[in-house]
Amino acid sequence: MTEQEKNKKNENAYEAKNAWLEMGEEEREEVFSFNKAYADFLTKNKTEREFARAAAAELEEAGFKNIEQYESLKKGDKVYVMNRSRALLAAVIGEKELTEGLKIVGSHIDSPRLDLKPKPLYEDGEMSLFKTHYYGGVKKYQWVTMPLAIHGVVVKEDGNQVEISIGENDDDPVFFISDVLPHLGKKQMKKSMNEGITGEQLNVVIGSIPVNDEDAKEKIKTAVLSHLIEEYNIKEEDFISADLQVVPAFKTRDAGFDRGLLAGYGHDDRVCSYTALEAILDLNEPEYTSLVLLMDREEVGSMGSTGMQSHFFEDQVANLVDLYYSDYSELLVRKVMQNSKVLSADVNAAYDPDFAEVYAKHNSAYLGKGIVISKYTGARGKAGASEASAEFMGEIRGLFNKAGVIWQTAELGKVDEGGGGTIAQFLANYNMDVVDCGPAVLSMHSPYEVVSKADVYHTYLAYNVFLEN
Ligand code: MN
Ligand code: MN
Repeated sequence: MTEQEKNKKNENAYEAKNAWLEMGEEEREEVFSFNKAYADFLTKNKTEREFARAAAAELEEAGFKNIEQYESLKKGDKVYVMNRSRALLAAVIGEKELTEGLKIVGSHIDSPRLDLKPKPLYEDGEMSLFKTHYYGGVKKYQWVTMPLAIHGVVVKEDGNQVEISIGENDDDPVFFISDVLPHLGKKQMKKSMNEGITGEQLNVVIGSIPVNDEDAKEKIKTAVLSHLIEEYNIKEEDFISADLQVVPAFKTRDAGFDRGLLAGYGHDDRVCSYTALEAILDLNEPEYTSLVLLMDREEVGSMGSTGMQSHFFEDQVANLVDLYYSDYSELLVRKVMQNSKVLSADVNAAYDPDFAEVYAKHNSAYLGKGIVISKYTGARGKAGASEASAEFMGEIRGLFNKAGVIWQTAELGKVDEGGGGTIAQFLANYNMDVVDCGPAVLSMHSPYEVVSKADVYHTYLAYNVFLEN
């Protein structure tokens, strides 16, 4: 036996497996059909409102009921709670008592995008445009010269809502942000990439045909306003009470000759939200009470009433305790909390050979090597990380190995380069065991993110097995 063969056969060595090499024909088909449904869901649901609504519909169909419909809760009951149309919690009451703790998979359904400013509409250069304020960690230069769609709601002063989704159907118009031509781009090209396109240049072109009216001051803006009244019955002041988001007008599509990858907008973190949702929908009779969180606001720090730092989660755990026990007490709520275990379901960065210098090769996530377990996130010296204990890491790794879940482990980038935050730290504050756990994404936070279909499927398996046992 050569030295190389000995190494290859060393049973004491560890190397993450490639999921594609581990699966048979049947699982491969399952991987592809699971991802087909995910791709369609992602194409259809590009905002947290759309995701939350679609998730609630799937839950309802599977027999989950709004928490308001329950007067008490017992083993086997399925319940969900919507928070302000933008965040959602779903639970299946388990065999064991609530105070034995919950099994939680916590993800987020907001993604980086461009929001319209409160006063977005103006006219300049024989065009009408919308001003935007980007949301989350966006590389601004990536958002110019490509087809964009507008999604969201406008709330009238009487409370009536107008829903808008334009740019997705083949016969819809699209919107776009312009960039300067290379012939005149000499100065721009000398700027840093952060300054080449500025936040105030992210203006979306929305019209160009003026009204034929001598007296109109801004003829194109006037024409757009007439269109908005006719099509949606909204006036300029209505934009002040609106959540309108500009997102890529792409479909999520297969990538590569072998169709092993999925390219689309918003995998961070809807790939975890979707797999978590499917995982709870497919539960049989979970031992512990299973809970899935689809949170909002993660990309800006989880603050706000629909983010993980809000009291929403605590309020709902208190509600569950109140409906489950006849003698509610704060102590019971705290017992539930401190005995709970969490997979903080968020994505990691996939190793990219074109930017090898920022990745720590031996501790990076790779496409196709399954769900990524991250002991800690945080930036430069673990700052801001809650860090999972050795005990909890051992439990999770044992669980995944036993169930045949393909997994790998990674940090987000080199020690002095990278890092990031997730909702893990906010759940850990409740004195719960928490570990970050989700698939790797290539070109994360770009308008066109990429994941491996094998990883998506094993993420689903991982969440399902964690919730079930
Ligand atoms: Mn994320
Ligand atoms: Mn993110």
